[in-house]
Amino acid sequence: MTTNQPIYPAYPTLNDITPYKTGKPIDELARELNMPIANIVKLASNENPLGCSPKATEAMREALADTARYPDGSGYYLKEAIVAHHADEAVLSHENITLGNGSNDVLDIITRTFVSHADSTVFSQYAFAVYWLATKAVGADTVIVPAVDYAHDLPAIAKAIQPNTKVVFLANPNNPTGTYFSHDALVTLLDTVPNDVIVVLDEAYVEYFDPSEYQSSVALLDKYANLIVSRTFSKAYGLASLRVGYALSSPLIADLLNRIRQPFNVNSFAQAGAIAALKDQDFVAQSRVLNTEQMRVFEQAFGELGMDYIPSKANFITVKAGESDTAGNALYEALLQQGIITRPLAGYGMGQWLRVSVGLAAENERFVEVLKRVK
Ligand SMILES: *Cc1c(COP(=O)(O)O)cnc(C)c1O
Repeated sequence: MTTNQPIYPAYPTLNDITPYKTGKPIDELARELNMPIANIVKLASNENPLGCSPKATEAMREALADTARYPDGSGYYLKEAIVAHHADEAVLSHENITLGNGSNDVLDIITRTFVSHADSTVFSQYAFAVYWLATKAVGADTVIVPAVDYAHDLPAIAKAIQPNTKVVFLANPNNPTGTYFSHDALVTLLDTVPNDVIVVLDEAYVEYFDPSEYQSSVALLDKYANLIVSRTFSKAYGLASLRVGYALSSPLIADLLNRIRQPFNVNSFAQAGAIAALKDQDFVAQSRVLNTEQMRVFEQAFGELGMDYIPSKANFITVKAGESDTAGNALYEALLQQGIITRPLAGYGMGQWLRVSVGLAAENERFVEVLKRVK
């Protein structure tokens, strides 16, 4: 039974929530189509098609020996590795870090720490769904700022801040659009936002930026005490199943976040895998090179098919399936029947569009070939 009348005294905003829809699992489609798992191509959840660093796999295997022990709740060695990883950008210590069970956990912890039901958060139209979900979960209001060409409008976001706004969420690049904004635009926003409003910069796909183009936002932490940068091991590091991410912030903010954080939110295998993954930047570079090369394959194919797409800096690309609001879903279904899982975006108010993750060359080729057939 579903009803809009809350039976229990939950926040009224829970009526607005539909649970987050995840990408369809490979084995689920295999069961439905009665097709071997090996014939299915999943380009739906922005996972790393190369898997993860073999060093991470080995570290996790070693961690199995201590399965009966609780994980290190402070994440000491992972924090050491994070500090070392960012040493060129900023002088950090353990006091700047909050570990999360995926960066979604970090986003949720931030919201629960700073936002109550009398407050609001501000973010862009078409922004990552978790900002909406985390805000509604604490009974607060969302202020959604119209996007420009599907991208965040940073000056408008700064202007949209209300007296009760506690947190601004930014994703760079954004999911599901792949759009990005410049370092200068970020700095201008940080200069404009009142310093008692938290700015969360979600950099889940930052590893896919060309390093020669990327200016460190971590280096801004020193100057802007209200900035939180979140990172994940789920995308370029290829550790989505482990659920591990982290936030970098001032020690004051990190101290508050760590009061709310569950003490064992990052398990031992995730900690071991993440440490080894951080130290294997060659694997990350290899993933970036593959992504850049294969992104061109998608762009070229969409160009040949006369399909509009949103230029992306991430490891996925969003393509216009047609003019009708059900076109994205129709193309998604047609591809599914051929064993290809993508992501329709009607839930984001982008019913014409389909999001496709960049896979291995053979997977992308198969996708393009099937797309040409079903289009
Ligand atoms: C995938 C993604 C995340 C990461 O989620 P995890 O919980 O770390 O797996 C965070 N933000 C955005 C914008 C994403 O697309």
